Amino acid sequence: MKHLSIGVRLTLWYLAIFALGELVFGAGMWFILRQNLYDMVDDDLEAQVDDLKSFLESQKRDISLAKLREEVSETYSIEHSGDYLAVYGETGELIYRSAFLEAHPQLLLPADQIKRQQSHNRKVDDRHFRFVYETLAANGHVFTVEMGVPSDDAIGTLHLFRFYLLMFAPLLLLIAAGVGYWMSRRALSPVDALVRTAREVSGANLNSRLQKLETGDELQRLSDTLNEMLDRIEAAFLRVTQFTADASHELRTPVSLIRTEAELALRRSRGEAEYKESLRHILLEAERTTVLIEQLLALARADSGRETLHMKPVDLPQTLRGMVDSWQQVAIIRDLQFSAQVDEEDALVMGDETMLRRLIDILLDNAFQYTPSPGSVSLLLEQREDTIAIAVQDSGVGIAKEEQSRIFERFYRVDEARSRGRGGTGLGLAIAHWIVTQHHGSICVESQPGHGATFRVELPKIASPAKAPLSV
Ligand code: ADP
Repeated sequence: MKHLSIGVRLTLWYLAIFALGELVFGAGMWFILRQNLYDMVDDDLEAQVDDLKSFLESQKRDISLAKLREEVSETYSIEHSGDYLAVYGETGELIYRSAFLEAHPQLLLPADQIKRQQSHNRKVDDRHFRFVYETLAANGHVFTVEMGVPSDDAIGTLHLFRFYLLMFAPLLLLIAAGVGYWMSRRALSPVDALVRTAREVSGANLNSRLQKLETGDELQRLSDTLNEMLDRIEAAFLRVTQFTADASHELRTPVSLIRTEAELALRRSRGEAEYKESLRHILLEAERTTVLIEQLLALARADSGRETLHMKPVDLPQTLRGMVDSWQQVAIIRDLQFSAQVDEEDALVMGDETMLRRLIDILLDNAFQYTPSPGSVSLLLEQREDTIAIAVQDSGVGIAKEEQSRIFERFYRVDEARSRGRGGTGLGLAIAHWIVTQHHGSICVESQPGHGATFRVELPKIASPAKAPLSV
């Protein structure tokens, strides 16, 4: 049963239920018919017994036993109803017994054990009879009567009925099996169509979809759900192929720069200073390539879900305070003003400290990169009721409104030449966005071109563990 197709299983179930129904119906009908036929025979018997009672009542009260025997014999030996009749007196003495009962006597119950009326069937020489025992009170005497009628017709009808039932049952079952199989095939044919189409879907034709069903049932839900799943798979697949294409493109640029620089240097002999300059360029490009590869790897790991974050409570103000000094150095080199306003109070977030540092580094790095001197960059941390808000503000070139929603996309740069020129990869904000999402926070930008930009990050706060009372 386990390995049979759903169609065959449904048919077998249908067949089993149908056969059971047929059995119950056939048996029920047979019993009802039998009961009705016996009722008819019993009514006939009852009428004959009533006639006999009237006959006995019509006899004189003081009639002798011998006379009564004579009277009953005279009447019932020629009457049709006397063919299967026996009449006994009060003390069991025989008054009349037909030739048939004479030849086939039965063990008659004593009068006091016979309930008022008792019917039973007898089969004699392949003929069927229905007999009734009855005690009759007539003319002050109690008689015991045994009267029968042939019931061959009733039994014949019953046998015929059973014969037809048994003859047609297999035929009906066969028809039911055929109809059941046809119905299940019909109901499941859309599943076969879905399976056929699903088999054909591969990486090369991810845009094909399963046939849209309008049946409004489970099968429609199944095909809709599978199509939605294919939508998601296609989108993910496109993202990956796009990412691979973009990454190859990005990697080609620094590699060809390194190659050109080396080729130029080797074309003719040069002085030491010139070689050093060429090597410096090559080193710079190699460093940028390393950054790009690291960022690509980070995103690839994030996509595959293999980038495991080591979440633990992190005191964010403390982490940020620890980063201020090194950024102060960068500000001096770049000739920019740098200020940091970080809340003194502890504030915990559940996060990966390395990742959170990386997030702030990306935002500060961008702020310094896109702010020409003279200008300023500031880092602010402020505690809210349930969140910690961090803002990285600069007075740099700013970002146009229509670009703001796109800068978090991978490889998106507002000004390609400028970003590339300063070693930008177009991946920093994509990584920042991923880190924030992993920390269940949000990131957004506010900016006006020419008036600087502010990147705001909000991260959910967790309750600080109760501080232990100071021991004195
Ligand atoms: P990139 O490596 O090019 O900086 P990012 O993903 O970090 O890549 O940033 C994407 C783009 O967003 C940048 O190319 C730049 O045009 C813009 N951008 C990011 N930060 C700032 C900022 N503070 N001021 C102006 N533009 C910015």
